[in-house]
Amino acid sequence: MKVLIAEDETTSRRMLSICLSGWGYDVLAVDNGSAALELLAQPDGPRLALLDWEMPGMDGIEVCKHVRALQNVPFRYLIVLTAHNREEDVVLALENGADDHITKPWTPGELRARLGVGQRMIRLYEQIEEHAHNLTVAAQTDYLTRLYNRSVVLERLGEELSRTVRVGMPMSVLMADIDHFKNVNDTYGHLAGDDVLQEVAKRLRLGCRPYDVVGRYGGEEFLMMISPKSYEDTEIAAKRFHALVASAPIEAKGFSLDVTISVGGIWLPPGTPCSVDALVNAADHMLYQAKNRGRNRVEVCSFAECGNATPTPFQ
Ligand code: GH3
Ligand code: MG
Ligand code: MG
Ligand code: MG
Repeated sequence: MKVLIAEDETTSRRMLSICLSGWGYDVLAVDNGSAALELLAQPDGPRLALLDWEMPGMDGIEVCKHVRALQNVPFRYLIVLTAHNREEDVVLALENGADDHITKPWTPGELRARLGVGQRMIRLYEQIEEHAHNLTVAAQTDYLTRLYNRSVVLERLGEELSRTVRVGMPMSVLMADIDHFKNVNDTYGHLAGDDVLQEVAKRLRLGCRPYDVVGRYGGEEFLMMISPKSYEDTEIAAKRFHALVASAPIEAKGFSLDVTISVGGIWLPPGTPCSVDALVNAADHMLYQAKNRGRNRVEVCSFAECGNATPTPFQ
């Protein structure tokens, strides 16, 4: 584990470095508080630090205060190492963000044990951070397809909509729906249907650029958000998704199935004020049109031409 030593006194710094390296730590040593803070502020900086109190410029307590005020950096375990050993010094150090306080002259046994406590706390934090990350991902992801789920894709759409309107960029929303998917379930079983959903999701993701967004909007419906340069680009993208799904049969529980989708697309020219609901409704409307015109096809239109359309159910 990386550990930072901030100590202005050369001999002390060397002795600490030798000891800690001997105990297997990956030591970074600096002789002032500002350099310590700079390292601790880096996202991949050391998580464990041994800070001398008295240093020229920024002292160890100031470093603690600044580290605690940092946003978006992982937890740091900060030990203040100092000759200030009155009760009020210990209180001051802890109240200003130190996790522990060691009195100089230090003894190797105690120093090693207290660093060990720091390591334990850091591991615990890492587990909590990993757990929190996994929970966030799970809450945002559709369990079957691993795409964004409906609420996230709508949230992203809202963000993207305000951003593109603000900066005067165009955007497009495409809604895709698997054709006659109920037949797949009825004929080959629900598990084969799940395989089809997963493979369709994979192909749609394949058709996306890194900055495009694709999510599972509902049962066998997917929503894509792309940043095309023109209406024609929207049409090209919609056709690309359509062709990718139909490009090869999908293997599902031992069956080889020809699967197609219908796609409805809306092109939103730069600076068009529009709500998420209106945009989704318009894309839905175009999807219905594709279904009503025979399925296995793409229908795209500019928002201005069908922005007020209310989706009508297809047969
Ligand atoms: P259309 O071409 O008009 O879209 O016909 P369709 O059969 O695809 O549409 P319909 O809405 O009648 O049927 C959709 C089916 O999708 C019904 C539902 O059971 C199925 N479905 C929804 N979610 C899942 C899922 O997670 N797994 C499986 N296997 N099926 C699902
Ligand atoms: Mg000092
Ligand atoms: Mg369908
Ligand atoms: Mg559907």
